[in-house]
Amino acid sequence: MNRRDFAKQTALVGFGLGIWPQLLVGCKKDKSWEINFSGKVIVVGGGAAGLMAGFYLKRFGIDFELLEAGSDIGGRTKKTDSFADFPIDLGAEWLHTGPKIFGNLFDNNGPSGSMEVIPYTPATISVYKNGELKQRNIRSYFYGEYKFKRSTWYDFLNSYVAAAFHPQIKLNTVIQSIDYSGSKVVLKDQNQVEYTADKVLVTIPSIKLKTNSVTWNPALPSSFTTAIGKTYMPAGIKVFLQFSEKFYPDVTDLDGENDAETIYYNATFKKESNQHVLALFTIGPRAKELNTLGDHQLIIKDCIRELDEIFGGSATGYFIKGVVQDWTAEEYIGGSYTFFNGREKDIQADLSMSVNDKVFFAGEALHSGSSATVHGAALGGKEEIKKILALS
Ligand SMILES: Cc1cc2nc3c(=O)[nH]c(=O)nc-3n(C[C@H](O)[C@H](O)[C@H](O)COP(=O)(O)OP(=O)(O)OC[C@H]3O[C@@H](n4cnc5c(N)ncnc54)[C@H](O)[C@@H]3O)c2cc1C
Repeated sequence: MNRRDFAKQTALVGFGLGIWPQLLVGCKKDKSWEINFSGKVIVVGGGAAGLMAGFYLKRFGIDFELLEAGSDIGGRTKKTDSFADFPIDLGAEWLHTGPKIFGNLFDNNGPSGSMEVIPYTPATISVYKNGELKQRNIRSYFYGEYKFKRSTWYDFLNSYVAAAFHPQIKLNTVIQSIDYSGSKVVLKDQNQVEYTADKVLVTIPSIKLKTNSVTWNPALPSSFTTAIGKTYMPAGIKVFLQFSEKFYPDVTDLDGENDAETIYYNATFKKESNQHVLALFTIGPRAKELNTLGDHQLIIKDCIRELDEIFGGSATGYFIKGVVQDWTAEEYIGGSYTFFNGREKDIQADLSMSVNDKVFFAGEALHSGSSATVHGAALGGKEEIKKILALS
């Protein structure tokens, strides 16, 4: 069976047979989990890693709280329903793996429900380089990738992962210090409110760890601080532009280098939409350039200028409206995703060590083989909870 056939067969993904009440009880029978722990866990950060951690803490009946700095959960997943006639992923959008991952995330015992995914196989691809637009003759430019058809990554996390434990999530809670010098771990937020736990799982973005947005007592081990010093998160931005006509291919690649990427892509591809929405996804220097403009109208204007240059002036004439999501400007995110100055696996190994069996870390940066992805972050959150629950 080739990938296309596989995609057709698996395009409608179910999340298991359980219903919510069944999900919350009886799970100690799950043989792959060893549950020895019975104290309290605090999860810091409500992105994919933190939410998946919460899902398993809830499943196994552990006392826990999830503390999120922002006014909503989701982290680098976010959506808007109001820009177009389909929900738009303002952050993560692609499923950078096959739909089987949902079974892995939930141990094939997830919430009931289904979300339709579509194989991402753009038909028309161009590359714009040195002032020239050239068509590419590649049928499947992005290998093995999918997108949600009528939904978003945010919806997935909110409806299937976090729904069972919304009351345990505390928003607008910026953790500023973590003291693990005593038998319990004590965290303080921006209002000096204290939270106490036996174990803490920290899932904040790598750039926030690197720039010391949290103070530690005692200081984190030098192996960890050296490793985090070798990570970096380039600027990242997405812009969605609505036009009255489609004058662009499914993908226009503006050719990035190593840790840079700039593509304009047809955001309505295989979605149910009567509109024309072209999106810009860029990380690296171009994202930094747009971030420096600051004002969203200026950013949109600069994208229209760029598109006019590529497509011989068509963008200005057909432009209706735009929306910008600047991830670098997000106070509690600060960039796109993690890159490594050095051997990724070694750096991740140093970041993944627990500190005194009390402080644990997860998040996209740490997941070996799937960094920079939602599914990698979520798998990492699950795996760290598995480690914590095995401890007594
Ligand atoms: C523009 C862009 C496009 C992307 N596209 C894709 C894609 O198509 N597919 C894909 O798989 N991945 C994509 N990614 C990557 C993906 O979004 C991330 O890898 C993933 O969402 C990270 O999850 P996380 O839980 O590690 O971190 P986050 O989602 O960043 O969650 C961390 C949370 O910690 C919170 N926080 C920070 N500081 C504190 C504090 N002091 N106290 C409490 N909370 C705090 C933050 O507010 C945040 O909610 C994209 C990322 C960007 C920026």
